[in-house]
Amino acid sequence: MTSLDDLPIRDELRGRRPYGAPQLEVPVRLNTNENSYPVPDAVVEAIGKAVAVELRDLNRYPDRDAVALRTDLADYLGHGLTTANLWAANGSNEIQQQLLQAFGGPGRSMLGFTPAYSMHPLLALGTGTRWLDGRRGADFGLTPADAVAQVRQHQPDVVFLCSPNNPTGTALDPEVVTAVLAAAPGMVVVDEAYAEFARPGTPSALSLLPGHPRLVVTRTMSKAFGFAGGRLGYLAADPAVVDAIQLVRLPYHLSALTQAAARAALAHRDALLATVEVIKEQRDRIVAELRRNGITVADSDANFVLFEVGGDQATVWQALLDRGVLVRDVGLAGWLRVTAGTPQETDAFLAAMAPSER
Ligand code: PMP
Repeated sequence: MTSLDDLPIRDELRGRRPYGAPQLEVPVRLNTNENSYPVPDAVVEAIGKAVAVELRDLNRYPDRDAVALRTDLADYLGHGLTTANLWAANGSNEIQQQLLQAFGGPGRSMLGFTPAYSMHPLLALGTGTRWLDGRRGADFGLTPADAVAQVRQHQPDVVFLCSPNNPTGTALDPEVVTAVLAAAPGMVVVDEAYAEFARPGTPSALSLLPGHPRLVVTRTMSKAFGFAGGRLGYLAADPAVVDAIQLVRLPYHLSALTQAAARAALAHRDALLATVEVIKEQRDRIVAELRRNGITVADSDANFVLFEVGGDQATVWQALLDRGVLVRDVGLAGWLRVTAGTPQETDAFLAAMAPSER
């Protein structure tokens, strides 16, 4: 049998494992920060109708520039943004890959502050961009001075910030973004996949876009909108950034079905985003309950919580799985991450975490 090692694969990909959270059939799945609530009936119907309209025209390529969808996304974001400021792709993963294809690549570098989203270094690898592993403080925070010092040291072509940060849940002080923008020689990307779950008073980097043409904010419909299976991510930036992406995007990358489904979902955003408050309550409940049991927990502005297990996290991960609760081992020694979902899922997770159970 031919193995991967027998193939003339790029040297830097040798011995690597693909990104992959386990997709296991267990009663309580809290490992990929999805929205636990299924799409409501009225929205299912609307998406079905919108997709059905496209079916007869599937002999034709879709709108290459996804203009109607980008217009709807601009309307959702507000902040005075227009169609020209928006770009959409198959998840924010693809958006970030396109950004690195345009602004990173061979001979260029990218700085991220870990622990952060584990795909960021993998996207660097896939696009031939040199990954620079920046550091956060002991509490997973990042101060403007610390961030600027690392940017000055490395002079990266692209800086990736993540707010609220995955896997820690930590939101960034907007001063970090402004300080990094002032110090960075290249592009600054703020990954705001979890922005809708932020606690009140946590501003988005969207408000910094005017006057900052090297700033890009990436978002997704995978989390708050409960549209992970629909695969729709997007960015907001200066129109020149969108022009740059057009040079690297595959033609017709966003299918007519995806565009239609996403537009129907956006039209019903009130119904979809109604789950956000319930999820935030569960997030806060998990934080409070774990802390009450003496467990160290990172502050969270996202739909997940990072908690310390006081030992080997792989053992605790397996013990929770044995009780039917799948959480995420993000490879951070002594810590695990759990997604906040329905009240029943929180009950199951907290019961599995109870001292008598461990
Ligand atoms: N950014 C962050 C911080 C994430 O956690 C995720 C999903 N886990 C993504 C981006 C990518 O999500 P998607 O491709 O579904 O938009």
